[in-house]
Amino acid sequence: MTIHKTDLVVVGAGPTGLFAVFEAGMLKMKCHVIDALEVIGGQCLALYPEKPIYDIPAHPKILATELVEMLEAQAAPFHPVYHLNQRVEKFVKNADGAFLVTTSKGTQIECKAMIIAAGCGAFGPNRPPLEGLEKFEGKSIFYAVRNKSEFAGKNVVIAGGGDSAVDWTLSLSEIAKKLYVVHRRNKFRCAPESANKMKKLADEGKIELVIPFQLDGLEGSNGRLSAVIVKDFDGNVRKLEADYLLPFFGLAMELGPISEWGLNLNKHHLETDPATMQTSQSGIYAIGDIATYKNKLKLILTGFAEAATACHDAHRIIFPDQVFHFEYSTSKGVNNV
Ligand SMILES: Cc1cc2nc3c(=O)[nH]c(=O)nc-3n(C[C@H](O)[C@H](O)[C@H](O)COP(=O)(O)OP(=O)(O)OC[C@H]3O[C@@H](n4cnc5c(N)ncnc54)[C@H](O)[C@@H]3O)c2cc1C
Repeated sequence: MTIHKTDLVVVGAGPTGLFAVFEAGMLKMKCHVIDALEVIGGQCLALYPEKPIYDIPAHPKILATELVEMLEAQAAPFHPVYHLNQRVEKFVKNADGAFLVTTSKGTQIECKAMIIAAGCGAFGPNRPPLEGLEKFEGKSIFYAVRNKSEFAGKNVVIAGGGDSAVDWTLSLSEIAKKLYVVHRRNKFRCAPESANKMKKLADEGKIELVIPFQLDGLEGSNGRLSAVIVKDFDGNVRKLEADYLLPFFGLAMELGPISEWGLNLNKHHLETDPATMQTSQSGIYAIGDIATYKNKLKLILTGFAEAATACHDAHRIIFPDQVFHFEYSTSKGVNNV
């Protein structure tokens, strides 16, 4: 298998990892980004895509999904290489000081420094225990939405009762041909305002609430769904015509292998020096929710500043022969980088 070579590996494509790609790019450092999820955006996209965020500087209000789109666009001129749907498992330090990072899919990347922006750890969706599920996953069953337009004019079943299920119901109701919401309770665990909007859509016949029902089976062939079978607690069965199933049963998070890398930990977080964002291992930085130091604020805006600090410090490791000259982005621009 080919070993990719780059300057920096960023573990985690949440908001702070994405901004680190931009900051690194401004300093002429190339990045590969690895994320356990099948889409970029971290918690913003996985947990609250349609919620407005009010404390991003210069954005009085911005939807989490829009913030991710903008961060992706801001990083794009620097051509990051994304390796999604795979978890970083291990790294070894070569004799020349370079790191060799290996993922759960066997991808290997050699880099001069690493930025860990892994939030609360690797996310994995809670998968419904349905027979034959894996045959449909990635083709007509998705645990996150990246490209909304894929669902235009389609029969879609959303399963779950939390914020993600309800937020995507509100969003996809505008474009889906038929949208079913399957939840095992009559009450939804989401923001009351969102629950009211969803009830209004159901009253207007724009969506159908299939409650209290649970997923029971799948029908289809070659990875394409034709129907989702649901059952209530009295054993009544319904067959919902479906092109897509989107189960939103929450995400399991675990620090996983990173906790075994020998880096200093403090209550499941990586201890860092806030002056550089370096961990206890030279050349390995931590930023965003996973990084801890005295008076740490777990906010996106803090993570952005930490990304800049880490990249500026990593410059001396990546370009040891260069004298670093600080320059504003207004002087540098992005097009000529
Ligand atoms: C409901 C809700 C509302 C919020 N509202 C706000 C708000 O208004 N303002 C605000 O500032 N913050 C808010 N936050 C917090 C904010 O979302 C987090 O601070 C932010 O997402 C942290 O970004 P991050 O990039 O550090 O990590 P994350 O967004 O957690 O991203 C980390 C990424 O790393 C990946 N990862 C982890 N381990 C591995 C591994 N081993 N291999 C590969 N990938 C890995 C994960 O899959 C994930 O995608 C909110 C959080 C929630 C849950």
